[in-house]
Amino acid sequence: MREAAPSVGERLRSAAAELADASTTARLDVELLMAAALGVSRNDLILRAMRDAAPPEFELLLARRIAHEPVAYIVGETEFYGLNLAVTPAVLIPRADSETLIEAARSACNAPPARILDLGTGSGALLLAALSMFPQSRGTGIDRSSDALAVARANGERTGLASRAEWLPGDWTQPRWADALGTFDLVLANPPYVESDAALDRMVADHEPHEALFAGPDGMDDYRLLVPALPALLAIGGVAIVEIGSAQGRGVSALAHAAGLSARIHCDLGQRERAVEMRRA
Ligand code: GLN
Repeated sequence: MREAAPSVGERLRSAAAELADASTTARLDVELLMAAALGVSRNDLILRAMRDAAPPEFELLLARRIAHEPVAYIVGETEFYGLNLAVTPAVLIPRADSETLIEAARSACNAPPARILDLGTGSGALLLAALSMFPQSRGTGIDRSSDALAVARANGERTGLASRAEWLPGDWTQPRWADALGTFDLVLANPPYVESDAALDRMVADHEPHEALFAGPDGMDDYRLLVPALPALLAIGGVAIVEIGSAQGRGVSALAHAAGLSARIHCDLGQRERAVEMRRA
């Protein structure tokens, strides 16, 4: 005789145990995967679906997560600053830590910025979060990856912010890359900043785009190109806010000073240095 399929609630319990070695957030992960398998929100899963039969589709999603694939790529979406965003392996998965830049922008901008630039926009997360916070602003996101720009453009539509956003190819490793962009009241960037030999979690190293993560032996290669370009991109009174690794505050501040910019460090919720705010000194 065939055994009856387990209920959703039973399968969540056993699956969380199966995933415990591969994930520090196993219970949350299996809930998100089960919700995706059922095509419902996590809330509806928890409130209404626990006694239903577990769907067979869940098993493949769980197997991918056990193989260290991030939940956001498996389900194709994630949340950032209250926005639901599509993600693919062409873009870095937006981190909650990066919301530090949006909070820093809120406190750094005395008046709402008319024009916002997001350098290396990836999924579009930083630009779209800023546009949602500043409802009068317009923004430009640049990326050298056309696959990333397609994700960002789709996210503009998905969040209802597309009419205030434009997405352009751009590559700061090329000469004169910034010449035609104009000037901006707020410049945001989450460039690659991981040391090339850093031992990253397998979930990150095996699945996320290396060109969005790694930036040379000390993780500073992209700052060395970007920071000197900022003065020409800043409108009068403009501010740039750049994400950093927790040990890079001094190095990035020194690059800012050398470029004639002031530097102020912002910490994330874990009290790690996470962003540098720069202005023309
Ligand atoms: N914060 C990311 C990580 O540690 C790195 C992001 C980046 O390099 N821009 O995985």
